Amino acid sequence: MVDIKFCVFCGKPPQSKNKEHILPQWLLKLTGDPNRVVSMGYNHKRKTDISFSWKSLVTPACEECNTEYSCLEGEVRPIVEALLERAPLTVDNYSTLLDWLDKVRVGLWLNYHLLMGNPTGIKPSFYINSRLRKKDRFVAIYPTQEKNIGLNAHGVETLSFHGAPSAFGLRINNIFLINCSSDYIFSGRCGFPYPVSMQLHLDGESSGHLQVDNFKSTGKIKSPIFNFKLHKPSVLLFQPIMQSVISEIDQSITFLGGNPAVDPYLLASTKQGMQPGVGKIYRQFKDHVSRLDDENAKVEFDTITGSECRPAGQLVSQVYELQTFLQGAYTPLTESLEVRKHWNQRQKLMKQLNRSITKSYINASSPKN
Ligand SMILES: [Zn+2]
Repeated sequence: MVDIKFCVFCGKPPQSKNKEHILPQWLLKLTGDPNRVVSMGYNHKRKTDISFSWKSLVTPACEECNTEYSCLEGEVRPIVEALLERAPLTVDNYSTLLDWLDKVRVGLWLNYHLLMGNPTGIKPSFYINSRLRKKDRFVAIYPTQEKNIGLNAHGVETLSFHGAPSAFGLRINNIFLINCSSDYIFSGRCGFPYPVSMQLHLDGESSGHLQVDNFKSTGKIKSPIFNFKLHKPSVLLFQPIMQSVISEIDQSITFLGGNPAVDPYLLASTKQGMQPGVGKIYRQFKDHVSRLDDENAKVEFDTITGSECRPAGQLVSQVYELQTFLQGAYTPLTESLEVRKHWNQRQKLMKQLNRSITKSYINASSPKN
């Protein structure tokens, strides 16, 4: 294992030697022998699964951060167990699940990229703390007919995911989750403010920084909330999240495009008693959308029948298509033709790789454990 010098949660050098399991021990026990090897996707060139012993998925963390996040693990465990039973969860439970998926997604990104010896030369610019509950996010839940227990992460091996850990899939026994979080992917369709232009600085002082301009908002919900068409999940939940900037002078927070504390639409559409600007959860049904105002309301599983039932391989392939879809959201910003050319080549390569993985999943029956 590569020696790393930062805490996965806060990015600072870990104060006391504490270990964080990116895939928690309770989850490994729930899905098989905790000493087994975990599949982390597919190496297309070598035609083999990319696998790690779960023991290698351990990174340093501060004691304080570790304690804080072990509370989240404690909360999410009964939630995952209930999902495996197809038991209804509350709206609040799903908020917790989305937090946990942010943690696992970013944790796998940091961990994988370190385990692989940083193949793409990326210096992590954020850690779990700085990415949790920060951008629009959703979860799609698919119950499957899978008889064998097992745990698989999908999409975390791609060049696209290395660039931005936006979308991944997680199979836990007989349930498959697609989780995604990225900049303004559906805020606008929930009636929240959204930038008409999103430009990514490719070089210079602001390299890697996203420039968002010209905010608009309709104050109306549109169905479907998200423009990427997924195979019908049993539960599909969206949570828009407003972004903000913190003043370097007085640390004051300014929300981009609107103020959730005074705008009546945003006030009604955001959660109270949490960090400001975090939207309520919206449920997408086949032909309409509901904003789930009651945190204690139960979210029942929708039945999936006939042609709506898809083989596991087709469900998994959506993760790779989704990553490609998300890639197209940003306009590159640079004065250098060379840099732009390099960016375009990389985008093309990411798409090609994802397309070939998508094909192999669609052609194969179901992915092996
Ligand atoms: Zn820390």
